Amino acid sequence: MDTDVNGDAARGVVVVGAGPTGLLLAGDLAEAGVPVTVLEKRPHRISNLSRAFAVHARTLEQLDARGLADALEAVGEPLTRLGFFGSLSIDLSGLPSRYRHVLVIPQYEVERALERRAVAAGAAFRYETEVTGLTQDPDGVTVLASRPDGRTERLRAAYVVGTDGMRSTVRRAIGLPFPGHSVIRSVILADVLLAEKPPSVLTANAVDGAFAFLAPFGDGYYRVIGWDRRHDVPDDAPVDLAEIKEITRQALGRDYGMHDARWMSRFHSDERQVPSYRVGRVFLAGDAAHVHTPAGGQGMNTGLQDAANLSWKLAAVLHGRSDPALLDTYQSERHPVGRAVLRSSGGIVRLAMGMAKHPWSQAARQSLAPLLSRVAPLRRKAIAQITGLGYRYPAPRGAHPLTGRRAPDIALAKNTRLYEALRGGHFVLITPGRYEGARPANLTAAEWRSGRRTTLLVRPDGYVAWASDGTDRGETERAVREHVGPVA
Ligand SMILES: Cc1cc2nc3c(=O)[nH]c(=O)nc-3n(C[C@H](O)[C@H](O)[C@H](O)COP(=O)(O)OP(=O)(O)OC[C@H]3O[C@@H](n4cnc5c(N)ncnc54)[C@H](O)[C@@H]3O)c2cc1C
Repeated sequence: MDTDVNGDAARGVVVVGAGPTGLLLAGDLAEAGVPVTVLEKRPHRISNLSRAFAVHARTLEQLDARGLADALEAVGEPLTRLGFFGSLSIDLSGLPSRYRHVLVIPQYEVERALERRAVAAGAAFRYETEVTGLTQDPDGVTVLASRPDGRTERLRAAYVVGTDGMRSTVRRAIGLPFPGHSVIRSVILADVLLAEKPPSVLTANAVDGAFAFLAPFGDGYYRVIGWDRRHDVPDDAPVDLAEIKEITRQALGRDYGMHDARWMSRFHSDERQVPSYRVGRVFLAGDAAHVHTPAGGQGMNTGLQDAANLSWKLAAVLHGRSDPALLDTYQSERHPVGRAVLRSSGGIVRLAMGMAKHPWSQAARQSLAPLLSRVAPLRRKAIAQITGLGYRYPAPRGAHPLTGRRAPDIALAKNTRLYEALRGGHFVLITPGRYEGARPANLTAAEWRSGRRTTLLVRPDGYVAWASDGTDRGETERAVREHVGPVA
């Protein structure tokens, strides 16, 4: 039996998948007054089998722009040095951000915060509703979903976003391939108790063919990720604690007395990216659009940034403030970032594990640590990519050099600051002379210099839409009308 589930969704957005990407997107759309329905095949329960552990500085800024960062900071553990393998580590304490660290916090805490916000803003959630297909026409999209009782539901929406993870049904329904390959196979995950506390919050190392990583859950359990490249078996091969202990001993020198695993699993890690993030009225975001190795902890972070980029554009178009062509910039802005993340996380794995099987690979790994610490531009590039602070979006020819760049958290009048002013999904116009006194630590010298004489129009996702060093009020008004729309 078919049921039509109509109502407000027909004028708004259907989000498929309530992972972190879908939750942030749904919350933004609902806060912007767009009718949004989230379809999720799971029952309503956020799993505590966390995958991601690392929330990077740029994501913390996005969460700050939604009023969520402080509460998560109170639960997680800040880490100012990100260690990769042995002596290879990067120091985050000088980041040009309010958040000069990576926050170690289980993914489910981030999901809970995002879900609470989306529900409070009025997003509708339909759990145990599995999307099976969709069709689109010039006016909208019809989504088909199956319910546990065998009913098929049909929903109509103006736009659909597939945030349904790596095995995305939405991606298949719009006929897109997911080209790429498996990078590492037979990786073991386990949640264990440790008899001894590891020396640092995150512990990772690779020795010969063995790699191990340990991170705390905060509830006494530790997540261990172990991989032995000499032991390549299918994902469904049984896992036992002895195997994990052995890999951990090889890679970290000891197994910290691990015992009582509450969960163990074996998985493989792919590197794939969809060629187009949009087909007509259907978009893909998060793992549905790109997957890569967990190295550098960038998967969830990249998905959240995708959502932050797309949400305000969908809201602007649905409210009639922007031309639908704005939606094309989601592809031109986010696809290159996805590609860069694939390259950097794959590079870390290949280099560190000597997977390239060339003698120079081991040598490169040995020399990378001192090289990274000595060569400032290389170090800055690695930090800018991993933290997400360094990405800039393409700007039109002749635009001001700040256009497309991330806006730092500038102090504003009335004792407020930019990322507070961004709450609610608004554009923020900052007029010159706002920066007084000494240079705040979260601004680079160049940002500080230019900010003292520049007018900035900041997009709801914290990137500069338009900037000018001139004083022509008419020019500013035109820019505001162009970007924010006629109601501004
Ligand atoms: C071991 C490991 C460690 C990781 N560590 C990190 C890290 O430190 N930092 C980091 O940033 N990332 C990390 N990641 C990656 C991160 O977990 C993912 O990138 C992130 O979960 C992607 O979020 P998402 O919302 O795009 O997709 P998902 O979290 O996969 O959510 C997709 C949702 O869609 C639902 N769904 C699927 N199909 C349908 C359907 N047909 N109909 C309805 N609902 C559907 C699913 O049930 C699910 O709830 C790690 C991953 C792994 C495996």
